Formats: sequence, C-alpha cells, structure tokens
Amino acid sequence: MKVSNRIAGLTGGGSDGWDVFYKARAMMADGVDVTELTIGEHDIRTDPSILDAMDRSARAGHTGYASVPGTPALRDAIAARVEARTGVKTTRDNVLITPGGQSALFTAHHAVCDEGDIALYCDPFYTTYPGTIRGVGAQPRAVPCRPEAAFQPRFADIAAKRDYAVSILVNTPNNPTGVVYDEQTVEGIARACIEYDMWCISDEVYDTQVWSGTHLSPRALPGMAERTLVVGSMSKSHAMTGSRVGWIVGPQEVIAHAINLATHITYGVPGYIQDAALFALTAGPELEDRVGAPFAKRRDLAHEILAGQNAVRLVPNAGAMYLMLDVRDTGLSGEAFALALLHQERIAVMPGESFGEAAAGHVRVAMTVEDARFEDALRRIVAFAGTKSA
Ligand code: PMP
Repeated sequence: MKVSNRIAGLTGGGSDGWDVFYKARAMMADGVDVTELTIGEHDIRTDPSILDAMDRSARAGHTGYASVPGTPALRDAIAARVEARTGVKTTRDNVLITPGGQSALFTAHHAVCDEGDIALYCDPFYTTYPGTIRGVGAQPRAVPCRPEAAFQPRFADIAAKRDYAVSILVNTPNNPTGVVYDEQTVEGIARACIEYDMWCISDEVYDTQVWSGTHLSPRALPGMAERTLVVGSMSKSHAMTGSRVGWIVGPQEVIAHAINLATHITYGVPGYIQDAALFALTAGPELEDRVGAPFAKRRDLAHEILAGQNAVRLVPNAGAMYLMLDVRDTGLSGEAFALALLHQERIAVMPGESFGEAAAGHVRVAMTVEDARFEDALRRIVAFAGTKSA
C-alpha cells in the first residue's frame, strides 16, 4: 500500500550525516569505551523534587484527560515568565502547553504555513527543522549563516533568501553552534519580518542557558509580538527531556487555532506532568541554575583548553550545551574529522555537515559528560587536530 507523499518525503532523503553517531553507538554496543559527545542531553536526571511533585499530582488523581490548552495555573506561569523576558503583556490566552518544544515547532508552522508556502530556517540548524516544515506541507528554505559572522543570521542573509517566505524559524541560544544572537542580529530578524511580512517562529528552548551576554527574544522588539510565536520547553532548562512538556506563546487568535489543532493531535499534556512543570517553574531560580551549572563550568574549562592553540578554532560560544569547533585548518571535512577521531581516539562528536551546509568543516561537541572526562576528551581533540593541521 502506498503511504502519503508528505510522510514519505518528510526527511528529504539523502545522507543525514548521522553516520558517526550510529557508528559510535555500534562500537559502544560492542563494549568499546567511547566518549560520547554527540547528544544534547544532560548527564544529570530530573531533580527528585520535581519527581515528587509529579508523584503527588498523579496520586491526587491528575491522571485523567487534562485541559487541552494546558492547566490554567501552568499557562499563567508561562505567561508570567515570557512577559518578564519580553516586556510584552502576556496572559494565559497567549499560551498553549505542548508535549515538548518539538510539538510546539510543528504546531507553530502548521498555524502559519499553507500547503506549498516557503518557510525559512537558519542553517546551521537543529536537525528536525526542515522535516518539521515539510511535515506541514510547506517548503523549507535555508538561510545560510556565515562562519565569518559567527553564524549570526544577519538581515542581508535573510533578505537574500526571502523569496515571499511566510515565516522564518530562528533559534537563540543556538543548537548546534552555542551562539547567542546579538542585538544587531535580533534587530535584523525583526526588520526582515516586518519589511517582508513574515512570521517569526522563535525557538528559545535554551533561554536559561546563557553563559555570556544576554538572551534577547525577537518578541520583545517593537512590532514583533503580533507576528512572533515563541517556542519554549522544560526539556533543557530543567533536565525534563523525557517528560515532554513545552509551549507556544503568541497572539491569542493563533493560539486559539493551535488549541484546535492540539485537540486533533495530542489532546493535551498529562496533568501530572504539567503540575510537575509548574512546581519546577515556581521553585525559584535555584533548580534552573543547578541544571545549567555543569555546562557553564565545562564551557570555562573549554575556553582554558582552547586558548593558546590554533589547531581548532572555537565559534564564539555564549549559551546552550554545545561547542562548535572550526576544524577547516586540518583540511578535513567535519565528517572526515569526526570519523577519524572516533576511530583513533574513541571520541564521538557530530560533524557540522549534519546540521546543514553552512557548518561544513566544523564539528559540534556536546558538553554532556562529567568534567574530567570532558576535559580529557577536549585535550585529545586538540592534539588530534594538531597532527592533521597543515
Ligand atoms: N529546539 C532545539 C534547538 C533543540 O535542540 C531541541 C532538542 N534537542 C528541541 C527544540 C526540542 O526539544 P523538546 O522537544 O525536548 O522540547
């Protein structure tokens, strides 16, 4: 039987650059001791106090269907959080709770793209972006960001690719680069959205993980609240990746439609998960700080190790749990570098090419193993690159 063209074409075909990842997994399954720096997931688990809140809620009976838009209390908490970050009046009517940020990305594109519409996304990109856009029947179009501009999507980069696009998907702090968009970038995004009448879908799932500079949401800029859909999640901020809870914040009318969509796809997020998220969000900054602290520390370690060498160059890294290393001086592609590193040093990193063409000749290092192992791996990556450099 034939499946739909839409679902068969979702991933776009071609090599997805995950070769290194699968090879590393196969080596580990064979008992090889691989230092695994490919995956964007904390090396700590959800805090026990959050699990206790989840347990209390479930035992109190919150195991039935929850309200589809989200519990009023959690929607209020997200509204307050996003209002504090953007300075834009936000109420629960601007919020839909979703099963994670990924579902929010899909819902946001569904809400603003018609069949065949062009939807922009910035390259390098988080791997699901083009498939998410194809999944709603739209056409993904990459906006290449230049390594010379530290992968910041500037106005001119967007203008060059706009082609009557209906939306642009941006991501700060960024996966895979670890870059936090500066003011010039966010202003350029806002200018492009307003001049070209585009929606801005702003993926801010790493907004609590900023190690230098400040996070600026495009929604905060004049004229942007009515055309911005902010995507957020508890996954990264509270090490709750498996709980699947996130949100979209946007204009009330769009959220009303998105709630209709949720009724037909997810029928909401479990009440006990939402209660746990509410507990986590209202527990004060200490929980969030504890989740982010290991990455901040490893980032400092990385800056120390990478100073005073030129075998690899660090893309200016200010947030999230990743480092992007420019390995072009070795003469190798990111993929060739990552494969050789895996075989010689038993260290697994992601080739830049798996995140788009703009990151060719780079590798992404996830700071997601304990400090001593991370430090040792990074020193060996630098030494390995040194042996390859011309
Ligand atoms: N956006 C970005 C940039 C991500 O890195 C991820 C997860 N790796 C997500 C969205 C989706 O996260 P989740 O669905 O767990 O909230």
